[in-house]
Amino acid sequence: MDGARLNLPVIWLDSGDTLIDESTEIYDEAGSVVRAEWIPGAQALLEYLEENEYTVILVADGRVRSFQNVYRYHRAEHYFSDWVISEIVGHEKPHPDMFGKALEASGLGEAAKRRIVMVGNNLKKDIAGANRFGVTSVWMDWSPRYFHAYEEPDWVPDHVIHSPEELILLLKSGL
Ligand SMILES: [Mg+2]
Repeated sequence: MDGARLNLPVIWLDSGDTLIDESTEIYDEAGSVVRAEWIPGAQALLEYLEENEYTVILVADGRVRSFQNVYRYHRAEHYFSDWVISEIVGHEKPHPDMFGKALEASGLGEAAKRRIVMVGNNLKKDIAGANRFGVTSVWMDWSPRYFHAYEEPDWVPDHVIHSPEELILLLKSGL
């Protein structure tokens, strides 16, 4: 793992409303997403992470088929070193199995957890899940959908960003 080797943070990214604008999702009759558009700045973020040799893992709830469709459509599969998808894991975030699988996929042990940064839009799933698992949590509040209040103590993120590009600034600041 390049990120592990270079001692960079390992980046775990949610998909819907973190990279992909959920309001643009088009579904097929079977209920899989066939196409969706980037959130402004999301592809630039992935480019930056790739150029700077970060390890990036998609940690997302949904069907494998949906993510294949969306990221193939954008020719964006190469940005991710692995995908952890709820359909395969058998649970959705905030279930610890999602994060446990992501830790395995990162090639890191328990001691390296604080070097992992989970970025997501959903306080109940992404942020609470990351906080309980013990990795650094970054809430991106770009989307108006879902929760925007810290309803439980463990919904409070370590950092808040308003757009994908702000993650670059946060990484440059050393978190
Ligand atoms: Mg999401």
